[in-house]
Amino acid sequence: MKSTATTVNDNLCILCNSQRIIRTSWTDANPGRRFASCSNSKCTEFNWVEPPMCRKGDVRGQDEGI
Ligand SMILES: [Zn+2]
Repeated sequence: MKSTATTVNDNLCILCNSQRIIRTSWTDANPGRRFASCSNSKCTEFNWVEPPMCRKGDVRGQDEGI
């Protein structure tokens, strides 16, 4: 997985209150698109930071190679 990670202090997980991390996706499906996910590896909390690309609008695609 090629991604960059940035810690955001005021961005805590709504499920487990752990630190959430902003990453940038570099998959073919979502190139350069940022998303926030929980730093707790057992937690599934996940949100796109930026709106979907025009060619791919399915925000439920968590398994698309992030
Ligand atoms: Zn969490």
